[in-house]
Parts: sequence; structure tokens; C-alpha cells
Amino acid sequence: MITKAKKSVLNDATQIRLATAYIQQDARLQVLESETTLSRERLIRLYKEIKQKSPPKGMLPFSTDWFLTWQPNIHSSLFINLFRQLVRNTNMAVSDAIVKAYALYREQIHALDLPEVLSITRAWRLVKFFEADMLKTTPCSRCHGEYVIDTYDLANGYVCGLCNLPSRAGKTRKSAAQRFLMKKQPACLLKESLINSLWRIFGGFDAVSLF
Ligand SMILES: [Zn+2]
Repeated sequence: MITKAKKSVLNDATQIRLATAYIQQDARLQVLESETTLSRERLIRLYKEIKQKSPPKGMLPFSTDWFLTWQPNIHSSLFINLFRQLVRNTNMAVSDAIVKAYALYREQIHALDLPEVLSITRAWRLVKFFEADMLKTTPCSRCHGEYVIDTYDLANGYVCGLCNLPSRAGKTRKSAAQRFLMKKQPACLLKESLINSLWRIFGGFDAVSLF
């Protein structure tokens, strides 16, 4: 009996720690409900305690389209590679790997002085789309990095959005693409630094050094 009580307290602590990690990255309530066993009421209280505000409302992204557009695709590909590396090299549970990979994604993006395009909620959704076999990755035939594509897309000779920058990117109104390209560095430099960053990840890293 004592063991059982101990177990549940420990599990409770684990769940709160996990929910806290997600809340700190601004995850939506639906994500918290899906990834932890805590009740909705407790999650809302925890959210308010940590963020001093109510959790954001609104629908979860339900379509794979967003992940396939140019700029989100680069960010999504970066995240999914980090996530896979963690799952492959550690015995981390998927729930933990998502939030840890997201923290690593933000680190990379900040180091490159780029805007955060992918939210934790979208990152979580991306993993779910992979689990449901709606999305997969394929290597770029030029830079050999792994990029997110639709499961049913033909992947032969695939060229990624970094190797094939859209010609109008940077000219379109106030699009995210424009901000992405106008960010201090010229596009070619940006491309190089992102590719270097992706390569560091694709090349594998010592998982131990991350903790
Ligand atoms: Zn490429």
C-alpha cells in the first residue's frame, strides 16, 4: 500500500513537471491534456500559477498544409530532426522529447537571430502528424538534409526550400517570408548559417552534452 501511495505521488510530481515544461513554452491546454494525466482543472490552475494568466483558447492546427509551406517547412524540419535525434539517442518518452526538442529548436533559432516560426503547439501537432503517417521526411538531393514532406508526395529528386529559395520571397508584402529574409543578413548568408546549423544536427551530436 505504501509503495502504491509513493508511486502515485511520484507520478503526480512527474506529470506536474512535464506540464510545467509545456506551459513554460506556451503550449495550448489541449496539448497539456493530451500529454499529461492531470485533470483540466489542475492544468488550468497550474497554468495560471506559472503564467499569471489563463491558457490561450482556440482551435488546434488540423491541417498538414502549414508545415509544407516554405518558411514553416524549414523550421519544422529543424524541429523534427532534433526530436528524432533525442528519441534515437536517449530513452526519453515522446512527451519529454517533444518539449526538450522544442527548447533546442528555440536555442538554434535564437542563435541564428531568426524569428520563432514554430510554436510548441504546432511542434506537438507535427509529431502527431508523423505518428499518423500523414507527413514524413525526405533527403534534399542537393544539401542532403532531411525535410518534412507529405507522405504521398513524390520524393525523387526533392530540392528543399533552402537550396531553392522562392524567387518572390522577400518581395511579398509583410509576409513572414519577407521578415525571414530581411533579417539583417542577406539570404545567401542566412541559407548558409541555417544549413550549417541543420548539418550539425543531421551529423548527430553527443546527446549527453545536452543535459
Ligand atoms: Zn537542400
